Amino acid sequence: MARAMRALALTELIRGATDGERDDLTAELDACRDWIAERAVDAPANFRHLQWWIDAERAAARGESFAAVAAFDAALSEDGVQDCPWHQALITERAGLAYLDLGLERAGRMLLTTAYGHYRDWGATAKTAQMLAIHPFLRETGTRAGLLLTTGRPVRPTGSFGIVSEPGSSQVTNRSTPISTDTLDLLAILDAARAISSETTLEQLRTRVTEILGAITGATTVHLLLPDPGEGWQLPVPERQGGSAASPDAGQTMIDLEEAGRRGILPLSALRYAQRTRQPLLVADATLDDRFTDDPYLTGLGHCSLLVVPIYAQGTPRAILVLENRLAARAFTTDRLNAVVLIAGQLAVSLDNALLLSSLERKVTERTAALNAANAQLAQLSITDALTGLANRRHLNQTLEEEWTKARVSGEPIGAIMIDIDHFKLFNDHYGHLGGDTCLKQVAGAIRHHVRGNDLAARYGGEEFAVILPGATWDATRQIAERIRAAVAALDEPHQQSPFGFVTISVGVASTVPDDVTSPERLVAAADTALYDAKNSGRNQVASGELHRAP
Ligand code: GH3
Ligand code: MG
Ligand code: MG
Repeated sequence: MARAMRALALTELIRGATDGERDDLTAELDACRDWIAERAVDAPANFRHLQWWIDAERAAARGESFAAVAAFDAALSEDGVQDCPWHQALITERAGLAYLDLGLERAGRMLLTTAYGHYRDWGATAKTAQMLAIHPFLRETGTRAGLLLTTGRPVRPTGSFGIVSEPGSSQVTNRSTPISTDTLDLLAILDAARAISSETTLEQLRTRVTEILGAITGATTVHLLLPDPGEGWQLPVPERQGGSAASPDAGQTMIDLEEAGRRGILPLSALRYAQRTRQPLLVADATLDDRFTDDPYLTGLGHCSLLVVPIYAQGTPRAILVLENRLAARAFTTDRLNAVVLIAGQLAVSLDNALLLSSLERKVTERTAALNAANAQLAQLSITDALTGLANRRHLNQTLEEEWTKARVSGEPIGAIMIDIDHFKLFNDHYGHLGGDTCLKQVAGAIRHHVRGNDLAARYGGEEFAVILPGATWDATRQIAERIRAAVAALDEPHQQSPFGFVTISVGVASTVPDDVTSPERLVAAADTALYDAKNSGRNQVASGELHRAP
């Protein structure tokens, strides 16, 4: 194609060249022509018509009229030219112009009319518009011939889809399935809808919508504004631009409309207009539109195509899309607007889903935290005695087993203390059950106060308590037991029915280094036996137990 175009350019140069220059230009032209002729030997369908065409242009430039007309005719008769619509259109147009040059008005006009039809069918709307301007006769011929002179629409190169046609005109096939631009829009919209509906978070949705709308509309900037309850419309901006409210994702802050307007990020006037009318707003060039020219956002801009689409769901504003193209006026067409509105509809649904999902996730997180707290509390309750707040008997047994196992490995001793309140039945009888409960709590408090960090104090049952003391020798256990006994006595809790006149406890202690012949049960039994020794010896005292070893 480069050689064909160069050849065409050379023929123009030859027309205006001096005699001296003409030979050189012709030599270069012939080199192009010969190169293409060589290709035509291998691939006539691709090159033969081009070879004839250059011959025709060369002859026309040199004033060899008949040779020119004959070569054009040969070019247009080649099979290959049919397969390449724009070659066909261009060569036909050039032939028509050559005929007109020769004064062959009628034949020239017929060729140009045919060329016009080829261009139009191919979808070259700018070219057909240009031809209409240059050759006004095409208007009449076209109408008379029933040609539809539509205003045209931008047609994108479609790659694998092949040729596209204008709405209303008959579809032209090019060896591939005919697909109209409407179909393409629909496919793009379906694609977009699918992509948007698969996004589940607001941030992914925002990114995807921006990508898709940019691709479909050619917008140079796409903004998606979302409302924040209490904060109004919010727009994310990169962190370095500063801002007040922190965004959940790093590197971005959210700003409101006023702030976005102040910073020149959004055309506020157009946005407010669309909000007022609740309708999509399509502005060919906001810099020339009286409604928006005062907007500081537009100062200094050459062009600004704008498309603002407010999105409503159940009558509530859910989002605003702002599309912009500063490179060109009229960048957004009405049929693109339809595509954007359709995509916006899908966006509203996906926004609802994303918001629902995020609120569900938040709820699940909250519930999980509450459940974990409740479980922890339950776990604590299950090992605690409700009245005294000390460990319960289950916890005591568990701890004793664990400490016993540890002590067997380490060879450390383990101590046990059993406690029973003296004459508690009489206390209850005298002070009532509630008074008894209060007394139990006070005794429990005294016990808790005097055990060490690693020791475990528990309510063993009724008015009996037990303490497990990992690492405590007999002496150490006894010392602590004595301290507890003294502490309870020091409470000086009145007990009229007791010979002491105040609440007292009897305490039994035992300690052992765990081995094969002892057991946790034996340790407790020894302390318990000692407790009864203390009772029998007059109460309010500590007695040491002898560990009964298995044979
Ligand atoms: P001793 O000096 O021989 O231990 O005499 P005691 O009266 O304390 O002995 P006994 O074991 O016969 O009495 C224990 C009493 O403790 C019986 C019961 O009414 C009372 N008791 C057990 N659990 C509770 C409780 O949770 N609250 C109250 N108020 N009393 C309890
Ligand atoms: Mg008792
Ligand atoms: Mg008792």
